[in-house]
Amino acid sequence: MPSTPRAAIIPVTPFQQNCTLLWCEATKRAAVVDPGGDLDRIRAAIAKAGVTVEKILLTHGHIDHAGGAADLRDALGVPVEGPHRADKPLLDSLPETGAAYGIDGAKVITPDRWLSEGDTVTVGELTFDVLHCPGHSPGSVVLVSRDARFAQVGDVLFRGSVGRTDLPGGDHAALIASIKEKLLPLGDDVAFIPGHGPTSTIGQERLSNPFLR
Ligand SMILES: [Zn+2]
Ligand SMILES: [Zn+2]
Repeated sequence: MPSTPRAAIIPVTPFQQNCTLLWCEATKRAAVVDPGGDLDRIRAAIAKAGVTVEKILLTHGHIDHAGGAADLRDALGVPVEGPHRADKPLLDSLPETGAAYGIDGAKVITPDRWLSEGDTVTVGELTFDVLHCPGHSPGSVVLVSRDARFAQVGDVLFRGSVGRTDLPGGDHAALIASIKEKLLPLGDDVAFIPGHGPTSTIGQERLSNPFLR
């Protein structure tokens, strides 16, 4: 019987990004997905859950997702996995992007492990498949637990919307192709946590998302 994933959403940064504390209930081992900032709030959530963080996962390189990754890595002494290498220019320019958006203290982060299509990521006894889903950013990845019917999708797909594609490296056609070719086939019963806003399921978006008609 596979272990059950548990998740706590911690909205961070002025963009109210859904930083997610994701853990394996059997082992109480955890990952922090997309620590964009507000590390005091993230650390409070870790303490409240009573889990041990073993890694940081990044879905993509935008400031609201990755801006706090370097500081959290230093504070916890854990490796950073993801996103895909195509987001390296975004990660290398986090200090400048932070300054432009009024977010102080963002540092360059170089992941300990870049992720590619077909890779797997573990959290405790949980296993997530890596899907490379470019479009919102060139290196966006989605993490999916097929056993648990659960995915972290970053800014690829939202309830009722899709990721913006007007930022550097954005490509709307590529984004829609990523969603239709990689996310919809996961199955209607797969629930997901997006980078912003409420959670949803693949089935709900297949039926009602106006960008997927
Ligand atoms: Zn983004
Ligand atoms: Zn975002």
